[in-house]
Amino acid sequence: MHITTDGIVLRERPIDDFDSVLTLLTKERGILSVYARGARKPRSSLRASVELLSCSSFVLFENKGKYSLDKADLNLLFMGVRGDVEKLSLAAYFAQLTMEAAPKEEPAEEYLRLLMNTLYLLDKGKRSCDFLKPVYELRLLTLAGFMPNLVACAGCACYEGEQMFFLPQSGVIVCGECVGNYPPTQIRQPLTRGVLTAMRHIVYVETGRLFAFSLPQPALERLGEIIQEYTLCQIEKRLDTLDFYLSVHQPLKRAEASAGA
Ligand SMILES: [Zn+2]
Repeated sequence: MHITTDGIVLRERPIDDFDSVLTLLTKERGILSVYARGARKPRSSLRASVELLSCSSFVLFENKGKYSLDKADLNLLFMGVRGDVEKLSLAAYFAQLTMEAAPKEEPAEEYLRLLMNTLYLLDKGKRSCDFLKPVYELRLLTLAGFMPNLVACAGCACYEGEQMFFLPQSGVIVCGECVGNYPPTQIRQPLTRGVLTAMRHIVYVETGRLFAFSLPQPALERLGEIIQEYTLCQIEKRLDTLDFYLSVHQPLKRAEASAGA
């Protein structure tokens, strides 16, 4: 049976000189493993469509749960991401994280939209890596069933105490009064008001306004640390693409950040 679906390449794994196995995020069927016969031949019409981050309308042939690639109409290549090692490494991390979190063989339109919108902003340089990384991580986890409860203190239900903490292992916030009720071995991240507001925005806001907020650079970096910790706690593994991104990442200089604000 043939299906046609929009999608993006999250991984290309060469099998031999000519063939590849692709991991795609597709609108209709989420994460799919797809055999791309002949795609690596130099003159193959599929060559550009099977590269990491290429977005195409894919025509797939399904037989007994196995998929192979018949045809692809290339839509987007994200050249601005490909030409920059920091952006490319962040995008590769987004791709690997998506493979961990997105559903397999189920519709995944929201996931695809989130990834495409994030890559678009990264590609055009409209938002920094420091901004896009925590937004993508937290929104993806929220979609995937790892939504933290940021409404109020998990102990006394106050909306905002004098001091607030995020507990990444349990995905809740607690106030300064209640934090003592949790074992000291639990990681606790102190939250400023700005960081908590940003986290609530990322988790609860409607899709169209997801990227419509800003934070000063120091708060953005703090948000980044907290959400990375949460991501690692929830997916329970270290991703090699994250380590590579962190090795090439250059935090914005403070002066440059405030000048651009
Ligand atoms: Zn409390």
